[in-house]
Amino acid sequence: MLNQTYSSTLTLVLLTAITLLSSACGTNPVTKKREFHIVSESQEIAIGKQNYSPTRQSQGGDYIIDPELTAYVQSIGNKLAAVSDRQLPYEYTIINDSTPNAWAMPGGKIAFNRGLLYELNSEAELAAVMGHEMVHAAARHGAKDMERGLFLQGAMIAVGIGAQNTDYANLIVGGAQVGAQLVSSKYGRDAESESDLYGMRYMKKAGYDPTAAVTLQETFVRLSADHKSNFINGLFASHPPSLERVAANKVTLAQVGAGGDLGKEVYAQKVAKLKATQAAYKAYDDGVKALVAKDVAKASLLAKQAIASEPREARFQELLGDIALTQKKPEEALAFYDKAIKMQPDYFKPHIQSGITLFNMGRKAEAEPYLKRANELLPTAPSHALLGQIAEDRGETALALQHYQVAAGSNSDIGREAEARGVRIDLPRNPAKYIQAGVQADNVGNLFVVVKNGSPILLGQVQVHVVKYDAKTGRAVAQSGSLVIKGGIAAGMRNQVAVGQKVATPQEVQLYRAVVEYAEIVK
Ligand SMILES: [Zn+2]
Repeated sequence: MLNQTYSSTLTLVLLTAITLLSSACGTNPVTKKREFHIVSESQEIAIGKQNYSPTRQSQGGDYIIDPELTAYVQSIGNKLAAVSDRQLPYEYTIINDSTPNAWAMPGGKIAFNRGLLYELNSEAELAAVMGHEMVHAAARHGAKDMERGLFLQGAMIAVGIGAQNTDYANLIVGGAQVGAQLVSSKYGRDAESESDLYGMRYMKKAGYDPTAAVTLQETFVRLSADHKSNFINGLFASHPPSLERVAANKVTLAQVGAGGDLGKEVYAQKVAKLKATQAAYKAYDDGVKALVAKDVAKASLLAKQAIASEPREARFQELLGDIALTQKKPEEALAFYDKAIKMQPDYFKPHIQSGITLFNMGRKAEAEPYLKRANELLPTAPSHALLGQIAEDRGETALALQHYQVAAGSNSDIGREAEARGVRIDLPRNPAKYIQAGVQADNVGNLFVVVKNGSPILLGQVQVHVVKYDAKTGRAVAQSGSLVIKGGIAAGMRNQVAVGQKVATPQEVQLYRAVVEYAEIVK
């Protein structure tokens, strides 16, 4: 099913793009080839700016407990940006996820997963991945994908949101869905070769030994032969390693010349703290899996192991919260979530978990600020659905309806339930929006009104009247009394009622219109 909020957001992006068709001819900033530009630079930058934060949230949040490491990754990004072909508001972050992966968004927003940093062996290898991702942004690869989507299908709606590490990945609503789309989409083979080629040139210019780009690819080919490698779900999913890629990088290496910094020692020193806690994160990842498999004892043990090795990590406290919740100990869960929030205030998950827990305990007023904060960080269907119920309880129906409509943008049970709640508020006010009514005649000219329940809820009786228009003037000339169509019309079903009038010719039917006056909602 097409997700409405998503498609409308994307349509908005693309429609704004179409308005700039007049300035469509341009030069690629990296390759210097002439090409059509529909998505302008300011749009690329706006897309990246809007989506960078929610996308990071949806993938596990930032890894914040080693700010020196983040600064190190940023410094390498800055070195490459200084020699790149295009000045963009580049930003670099480390995402708190063990899957080895990296991505770039339009506008120069780049992210490295914590899991990739375990696997690299030198600063030059980090620069190789960074340079590659930077070219994706600089050479407009994301923008081109959007433009191609615009030409081919009108939108990039075909690809679903990629697998992510939070339970909320499929419940994201609004513009944040676009971000997930932007980084999960695979660039084409040409874009990948272009990124390899120019990425190596940037490395060389920045003083790194581009040999690292070749050895890194060779390592990747070896790792991909091992199908158990968790690269399969990360970098390899979007960047399948191949001997062709290795060969192409060797050709580039011959052109740009080997030599430069490898930075093995400095890299080892910078990632030392990270590597020291790798086992803690492995225990955490296994603990999350154990909890999904309902092995609470194992999950608890692993969470405690993780905390013993890295007591500053908010995700580990959050796991203890999730475990307590599974054990139906909501007070305990709330205490762990609060601890997680204190350690990392800007990650949505402990906020939403606290909000849902408090709501389910009947403490709705306390739930509200948590749900609101969660939505600021990453808008999701559960937060909007519960905020809708809180608003409805207070009699703020317009606000409730807004929340329900946003939640309905998620193709999920929660989204569908919120949609139904919204319809219960809106349908009595706007019955014609949900109920289609038309006038038809049978083969001897008796008129009747057919109604269709276009809403997702069961309707009781529907009340309509019929208006007759003059064929020449187009003015209404007569109106029937109210007609009642008796109850029990299920979602998507039809029912009918006789008008008690006749027409002489089939054409005459067109002079009649049915107007929906009222519909009863079956509670
Ligand atoms: Zn790539």
